[in-house]
Amino acid sequence: MPLFGKKTVHFCAICSKELKHKYKPPSGSEVEGYLCSDCHIEKTKEAVLKQQEEKARLQEAPDTCAICKKELVQDTDLQNKPRWQWNLEAGSLLCKSCFDTMEAKYQKELNYCVICNRKIGFIRYNPKPAWNLKGQMCRECWDKQNAITKGKV
Ligand SMILES: [Zn+2]
Ligand SMILES: [Zn+2]
Ligand SMILES: [Zn+2]
Repeated sequence: MPLFGKKTVHFCAICSKELKHKYKPPSGSEVEGYLCSDCHIEKTKEAVLKQQEEKARLQEAPDTCAICKKELVQDTDLQNKPRWQWNLEAGSLLCKSCFDTMEAKYQKELNYCVICNRKIGFIRYNPKPAWNLKGQMCRECWDKQNAITKGKV
C-alpha cells in the first residue's frame, strides 16, 4: 500500500491530468480549479485573443449620428458637432443632413418669431415660461400674448 501522506493531489480542470505544478486560470476565463501548464498556456492564449478581439471591435465601431443613427464615415459627417443648445448628449455627432436640419431649425428659432414666423430684427422678446413657447417673438406677438394671458387671470 503506497502512502501519499498528507499531500493533496490536484488534477487539471480541463484535461484531468495530475498536477505537479498548479496554474491558476487566467482572469476572465470561466475555468474553476487549477490547470496544467499546457492547458494554462492554451487558456491564456484564448484570453489574450478574446481581449484583442474586443478591443478591435470597440475601435472599429463607427460613430453614429445622434439623431438618425446613421454611421458616420465621411469627413463631412464627422465635423458636425451639435450646439449645446440642442440638448444632445456630450460628445454626440450628427450626420450632415441631420446637422443641417437642426441648424436650420435653430437659426429659425433664433431669427424668426415663433408665432407669426416673421423675421425678427435686433430687438427680440423671450416668451414668458408660462406661455410654453420655444423660441423668440416679435414685439407685436409678445404684446398680444401678454394681453391674452393677462386677460385670463
Ligand atoms: Zn491540462
Ligand atoms: Zn443623421
Ligand atoms: Zn410675431
